[in-house]
Amino acid sequence: MREKVVIFVSILLAIMVFFTVCATTMIVIDKEKVVQTATSTLNDYNTEKEKPINENIETNNIKKNENKKTTQTENKIINDKAKEETKNKKEEIYKAVDEKVYAITTVHIREKDDTKSTILATVNLGDVLQRVAVGSNGWSKIKYNNVVGYISTQYISKEKPPEKEKVDIKINTERKIDPSKPMVALTFDDGPNPNSTPRILDALEKNKCVATFFDLGTCMSKYPDITKREEAIGCEVGSHTYGHKNLDNLSKEQILEDIKNAEIVYKNTLGHDLTLVRPPYGNANSTVKLALNYPLINWDVDTEDWKSKNKDSIIDQVNKTENLDGRIILMHSIYNSTADAVEELIPQLLNEGYQLVTISELAKYKNIELKTHTAYWGFK
Ligand SMILES: [Zn+2]
Repeated sequence: MREKVVIFVSILLAIMVFFTVCATTMIVIDKEKVVQTATSTLNDYNTEKEKPINENIETNNIKKNENKKTTQTENKIINDKAKEETKNKKEEIYKAVDEKVYAITTVHIREKDDTKSTILATVNLGDVLQRVAVGSNGWSKIKYNNVVGYISTQYISKEKPPEKEKVDIKINTERKIDPSKPMVALTFDDGPNPNSTPRILDALEKNKCVATFFDLGTCMSKYPDITKREEAIGCEVGSHTYGHKNLDNLSKEQILEDIKNAEIVYKNTLGHDLTLVRPPYGNANSTVKLALNYPLINWDVDTEDWKSKNKDSIIDQVNKTENLDGRIILMHSIYNSTADAVEELIPQLLNEGYQLVTISELAKYKNIELKTHTAYWGFK
């Protein structure tokens, strides 16, 4: 009996072990399956995921291109609209008028209101034009003889421009100048200065030659004796305006106010009227030229002495120009470096055979009539 029980228990245990082993194996298989399935799913997922990403990129690209196309189409529509609006505006911005206007400088009449458009005719200071429309774009539609075209409004005026008048300047006839020989004009701006200007005057006096000084009203009133000395040794004195403002930025009234102050100081200092003006920076737009009843004397040789403040550089700048005959050399009387250069430059130029003359002498001997409301850049 006992043996039967042991056998029964053993068989039962064996069966249990068998089932346990089987169950464990099943779980492992299942687990593997699950893992496999999971991996596969993950792979599938990844593949699936990548695909759509790729597709998405493509789709996005297509969409982008479509968007681009849409944007282009939209832009075209916007541009067309803008063009249409500009066109309408162009028509709208011209207000019909019927009035006489004058050219205030030499300027072109163009086919269209564009500086690149065909030139139909050229008018000069004082020419009378009929304005038929005025645009808010800075252009006017005008008739001139048989021409109908556009002209920049800034160059015409309803006010009759002043006539350019010849200016007669008395020159010192005692100074012997040979018109057949080369001559050059040294000019000095921005002074007088108590340190450097007397040095320049000493150099001129020592070499018995002259120059032209365009003095500032503000400095002239501070150092009247230096300005007086400039004239006393035979130099010419012009005005560089009262306050050295950029005249291009001023109204006619402001320009006239500045020059009025300069004229007062000038006459108080030298006892006679002003005859020559050099606008600061050489700037003289049509408003400046119309406002100033003087010849405006600029230059054609720039020493850039204000920039270098170096004697050798100043001399080099002058020597760069091979033939100085008829030229106007720009310098500034307020730097010691300029005075250094002048002390060397004057004997050099004299040795080279140049006569150092004033602006009025240079104009006279080069047969240039100095006129009011006119800017000059040398007399070559
Ligand atoms: Zn200046």
